[in-house]
Amino acid sequence: MSIEQNLNQIKASLPSRVTLVAVSKTKPEQDILAAYQAGQRIFGENKIQEMCDKQIALPNDIQWHMIGHVQRNKVKYMASFVSLIHGVDSFRLLKEINKQAALNNRVIDCLLQIFIAEEQTKFGLDQQELIEILNSQEFSTLQNIRITGLMGMATFTDDQQKIKSEFDQLKNIFDQAKTQFDHLSNVTLQTISMGMSNDYSLAIESGSTMIRIGSSIFGNRNY
Ligand SMILES: *Cc1c(COP(=O)(O)O)cnc(C)c1O
Repeated sequence: MSIEQNLNQIKASLPSRVTLVAVSKTKPEQDILAAYQAGQRIFGENKIQEMCDKQIALPNDIQWHMIGHVQRNKVKYMASFVSLIHGVDSFRLLKEINKQAALNNRVIDCLLQIFIAEEQTKFGLDQQELIEILNSQEFSTLQNIRITGLMGMATFTDDQQKIKSEFDQLKNIFDQAKTQFDHLSNVTLQTISMGMSNDYSLAIESGSTMIRIGSSIFGNRNY
């Protein structure tokens, strides 16, 4: 099937609360344009350099989401245009994003990445670290970032129950954080970014509001 057909099929199956991020990492500009022409405006990349190159070459009204692990020394390259950073996993990174956003006279929306999987290779904060960050005095001074939600990745496994329970865990952490921290001026918890090509139906059952889909739209990646 074509990119357009894949996209339309996925979109038709989504509840209206769910936003689709088309994950275009490693894919050429022509594939992104095919999705763009089918109406897609939100694209996710996991390498800052690649995202910057594509941002320059492609239409201006694309919203670029950084979904990968972010190195602090590279935040400056995307600070002028990035629309949402999904993988914020440390306070030091958040401070750097705030600094670069201020230099660009803007507020950058961020999701805090929560570690829900079994694999130690995945990044993220635990619930305690999340609470510590949001409770800290210094956090409240960061006026050029806004925490709009949480992001998580489930374990890579065939065990559907395990995946479901990890997504449920993230939803619980989100609900608790929303009760506790939504009154802060730089916190507006509205997004739960969870679900990829293989597990997005489970993620939506657990309350996902944003899914990140690559291979089911663009086909498999060759690295
Ligand atoms: C690559 C990637 C995706 C998309 O994965 P698919 O299995 O191709 O849908 C989603 N989220 C993150 C963080 C990724 O790195």
